[in-house]
Amino acid sequence: MRTFAFARANSVARAVEHRQAELVSAFVAGGTTLLDLVKLDVMRPSRVIDITPLPLTTVERLPDDRLRIGALVTNTDLAYHPDVLADHPLLSQAILAGASTQVRNMATTGGNLMQRTRCPYFRDAAAACNKREPGSGCDALDGVNRMHAVLGASSECVAVHPSDMCVALAAIGATLTLHGPNGEREIDVADFHRLPGTTPHLEHDLDDELIVAVTLAPPLMPLGTAYVKLRDRASFEFALASAGAMLSLDEDLIGEARLALGGVATKPWRCREAEALLAGKRADTAAFEAAADLALADARPLTHNAFKIPLARQAIVRALRDAARRAREDDA
Ligand code: SF4
Repeated sequence: MRTFAFARANSVARAVEHRQAELVSAFVAGGTTLLDLVKLDVMRPSRVIDITPLPLTTVERLPDDRLRIGALVTNTDLAYHPDVLADHPLLSQAILAGASTQVRNMATTGGNLMQRTRCPYFRDAAAACNKREPGSGCDALDGVNRMHAVLGASSECVAVHPSDMCVALAAIGATLTLHGPNGEREIDVADFHRLPGTTPHLEHDLDDELIVAVTLAPPLMPLGTAYVKLRDRASFEFALASAGAMLSLDEDLIGEARLALGGVATKPWRCREAEALLAGKRADTAAFEAAADLALADARPLTHNAFKIPLARQAIVRALRDAARRAREDDA
């Protein structure tokens, strides 16, 4: 393992100053991604900045009824927070579908947003990987690519974004608050993760900034949500395909629909066209299947992952069906 300098930040402004002072630096909170990748020699920070003393550990209800989640709220505390369970059960369901209890106890909201891909070639310092070493190639393209992306990929990178939590945040339409050298700004979560394109090493829309909060708008009413995650084993496993759905119903017609996918795309994948198709339709299997087909119309399989397209279709239909059932129960 390489040596690195260590700094502890006691204010958000100081954390950003530390970041600016060192070209190759990394924030650490729970450490569930960073420490693994440092030990594998995949990430090589010359300075690690401990942000755990920062006062970003609470979930608060704002006067306009939105929820503001501090970036250091752990995944466990977020999943079981009473206001999150009441307003956004989709977020709780998605978080609890991911990782293990031990990892969720350490992992933070901000860290989950920043988590790196599980592509095995990215984590193998001997493999060619444009994300780890720009211009070195991509061993996944002609390698074992069963777990890789069918949406949002490029000829430079086909790695899947691994987060379950981020799928829920994409469906909900969360807003991130970033603090940088020029103060704070807000960004839609849909604009935060970048497509790989020709620069897969640039994963986020960040400029020496620290994520300080995630804000969630009030839920749709009556509320129906579901997160369906299909994977090789029942726990502590990444998604082959997942779908997060949120619906409001008026009688049996869909008022508003939100849909996002995980396990199949290079970033948390919001399906806005499918959402528009669903609005005003009767909440039945025909509408859900049409939405799934539209959501996956641009899917392009690699050598080993064509199965992901029908799998994702099933995840979408099941998530929409379960969300509609819960909306009917919420309205009863
Ligand atoms: Fe690297 Fe992306 Fe290719 Fe995986 S898919 S080897 S992360 S460039």
